[in-house]
Amino acid sequence: MVYLGCHLTSSKGYENMAKEAISINADTFQFFTRNPRGGKAKAIDENDVDKYIKLAEEHRFGKVVAHAPYTLNPCSKDAKTREFAYMAMTDDLKRMEYIPGNYYNFHPGSHVGQGIEAGIKMISDMLNDIINPEQTTVVLLETMAGKGSEVGSRFEELRAIIDKVNLKDKMGVCLDTCHVHDAGYDIVNNLDSVLKEFDDIIGLDYLKAVHINDSKNPCGAHKDRHDVIGAGYIGKDTFKNILTHPKLQGLPFVLETPQENLQGYGEEIKMLREMIL
Ligand code: FE
Ligand code: FE
Ligand code: ZN
Repeated sequence: MVYLGCHLTSSKGYENMAKEAISINADTFQFFTRNPRGGKAKAIDENDVDKYIKLAEEHRFGKVVAHAPYTLNPCSKDAKTREFAYMAMTDDLKRMEYIPGNYYNFHPGSHVGQGIEAGIKMISDMLNDIINPEQTTVVLLETMAGKGSEVGSRFEELRAIIDKVNLKDKMGVCLDTCHVHDAGYDIVNNLDSVLKEFDDIIGLDYLKAVHINDSKNPCGAHKDRHDVIGAGYIGKDTFKNILTHPKLQGLPFVLETPQENLQGYGEEIKMLREMIL
């Protein structure tokens, strides 16, 4: 059994996201903690959060995934950008405690020519400054496609970040199927060996969530262009293998596919549920 959902717009609040998820037969979802390009977050409405928590319990939702803004880059060359990363993540993690025990996913960052090692150090330094022992939120590093100078397209890089973080029980990984495929991991032909490699290098215990996206580009293209399930190079059979894989049961699976609207996601979720019956 897996939890299935999609990315939702957070501007109308938590209760609204839960209702939207329920309306498309989803039992998890993802949302941006603030404008994906950065900026200030909306104040939390405790009444809205209470209603959300009730609905999520009633409908037996899995863990939900908050996504940090794309502009968050703890290993930028620019001090202002690094400062924004600290500010936004600190604030986001404080806000996440209103919905305790869920996930906060972020793109580890782009080292912009400073080198992978330097990037890994800056990312883990930030995490050590921000993560606190009382928080109930687990922070997820997303596997990246390896576009430009992105850190985190190799499992070794994610492992190196986790190795340097003190509070390891607050850390996890979110595997993005489009990204790992674009990074060169052949999940179409060798899913088992990719998962074994993940386990050997990072440890499957750290795998907390999956982004399910098809890819518009072949394996190893380092492009990061998502496609709807079945329309890209990964294909439906592989998604069936992923969703039914014994090592991936119980995880939240979130679609970030290029759908026009909620109804599109609803149809995609329906198709996936039928596929794995
Ligand atoms: Fe992402
Ligand atoms: Fe993703
Ligand atoms: Zn992506």
